[in-house]
Amino acid sequence: MDNHSARRHATWAASATARNIVCAGAIAMNELIDAQENEAAAWGTACHQIAEACIREEYNAGASLNVAIKVGKFEFIVDEDMAFCAQDYVDYCADEVKKEPCKFWIEENFSLKALEPPYDAGGTGDFILYRPASWHLKVIDLKGGRGVVVEATGNPQMRTYAIGALLAHPELDVETVEVAIVQPRAPHKDGRIRTETFHVADLLEWTSDLLVHMRRSRAAYDAFQTLPPNSRLAFEAWSEAWLTTGQCTFCDAKSICVKYKREALATIPAKAKEWFEGTAEELPDVSNAPMLMSPEELAHALNGLDMLSDYIKALRERAHREAERGVQIPGWELAEKVGNRAYLEKDQAKLAKELKLVLNIGDEEIYERSIRSVAQLEKVLGSKRKAEFAKLEKKIWERPIKGTDLVRVSKTGRAPAASKPAKFFEAMEN
Ligand code: SF4
Repeated sequence: MDNHSARRHATWAASATARNIVCAGAIAMNELIDAQENEAAAWGTACHQIAEACIREEYNAGASLNVAIKVGKFEFIVDEDMAFCAQDYVDYCADEVKKEPCKFWIEENFSLKALEPPYDAGGTGDFILYRPASWHLKVIDLKGGRGVVVEATGNPQMRTYAIGALLAHPELDVETVEVAIVQPRAPHKDGRIRTETFHVADLLEWTSDLLVHMRRSRAAYDAFQTLPPNSRLAFEAWSEAWLTTGQCTFCDAKSICVKYKREALATIPAKAKEWFEGTAEELPDVSNAPMLMSPEELAHALNGLDMLSDYIKALRERAHREAERGVQIPGWELAEKVGNRAYLEKDQAKLAKELKLVLNIGDEEIYERSIRSVAQLEKVLGSKRKAEFAKLEKKIWERPIKGTDLVRVSKTGRAPAASKPAKFFEAMEN
């Protein structure tokens, strides 16, 4: 199975085209951020890996059930949700191939280099198909997300793939281009699969606009490089000139973005604004009287809350990352995130043997459909053997450390955890 997480991304990645078109300074801003893959994105990557393997090796995604897939720091066990999502896309691609004679390409990497863009630009198209009889090019993209619904119409990412496909295959005679989004997990009024078809001339016109946006983005990038170091005023003036909100959802720079912060805070009442911008320790007296708000006010507040909660999340993530890098944040510290109790032995046959030997129990107590979890087994053993079972910590089972949380010192009883550099130096000394 090809490891998708190991792929290198272009500076102007097709997946960020919508953001970069709207916000000229986004590429410069994202260079300031040590971007980390979030769990939802990693889930999508794992799903893509299954889908690609199913198409290349011609098997059903159900055969991947219970297989472990590692994507960066995340590990997923393929469940029905992931297998169904991959299979939906695989079935759609297979049906499209059967419709009429065609050529197709799977997970093809594209570059826009031939257009001489001001950045290294490109991306990987999930599935590209060409029907010579109708001069028709089709680009199919799998979306694993369930939160953000992706539209096919006017989709800049899909158009970037389409232009990439035309550049990669200049031998193809193309008259019409069709893009298809397959998003099995997000409900949409037009169904799980949405398409848009346009004439190739429209795509070429769109591409010339794209190059204008790329050049503007490059100008923002070059202007950013000339900013005096450590000048907040210069940074804010640059932000004012080059940053535009509107496509911020997947931008990793949200937590440091002056424009995004301003817009997020503008949506909340003045008191809460003080809470974020002032120095008062006291929390505001938040009114909880929605009956007094009109439907329009409620809509405004809900829209604002979305943006505000995204901003808070981005800020928390950034603070956490800084603390993990060893930055001291006054009043806050890292604490170990302890996961659910888990057995030390991962091999199921060996574990069953060990449980029988140590606890003197049989299959009936050990198994439900598979080996019972630590918590279930403790329940089966009952209160009389609870103390005995507790003593097996670190012998049979453990409480695995699943990373860290950033916690307020005054509100936690948890032991502090070391930052990554501290752990590194500790390991060097031992
Ligand atoms: S958060 Fe929005 S406005 Fe700020 S850099 Fe990112 S895309 Fe631009």
